Amino acid sequence: MDYYSTHINKLIEQLSHLPGIGAKSAQRLAFHIVSMPADQVEQLTASIRDAKQNIRYCKSCCTLTDRELCPICANDNRDHHTIMVVENTRDLAAYEKTGKYDGVYHVLHGAISPMLGIGPDDIKLKELMVRLQNEDVREVIIATNSSLEGETTAMYLSKLIKPSGIKVSRIASGVPVGGDLEYIDEVTLLRALEGRVEL
Ligand code: ZN
Repeated sequence: MDYYSTHINKLIEQLSHLPGIGAKSAQRLAFHIVSMPADQVEQLTASIRDAKQNIRYCKSCCTLTDRELCPICANDNRDHHTIMVVENTRDLAAYEKTGKYDGVYHVLHGAISPMLGIGPDDIKLKELMVRLQNEDVREVIIATNSSLEGETTAMYLSKLIKPSGIKVSRIASGVPVGGDLEYIDEVTLLRALEGRVEL
């Protein structure tokens, strides 16, 4: 790619590290960015920097937030006895969009994958167990994806939690195998939640 300037090449390379951005998209974005007005580029870089500096894990559910407690955990109208375990903040957002779930969440930030070398200690599992010990939790709904990793994580979690006597349930399948929760429509999400089965 020597026919572009070094600066453009650098930008293309950085952009191509982003998930879902291949070489062609990176080029297209890079050329778009350099043609943008300077103040817009400034706003974009400032919001990336601000997000990185100010966003942290919620002290309770580990979702990404800019406060100590996320708005869901801080809301007294939510049912704090029911915790839905999801793989990431995008999955949480998908369930929030349905507007029908009034419990709280726990965000694992990943799933167990022996193949990728991701073990229980690499996701926010310890934090969940601490919550279960310290809070009055009556049900844990496991809403990890129906991929191999999601199922492995669900099984691991249920074995870990069941001895404590807390009810453990798994959202119903009907969510296509390997399907990412965030791409599934709200009706299917709700059906999966309502049809959950106790493990
Ligand atoms: Zn929270």
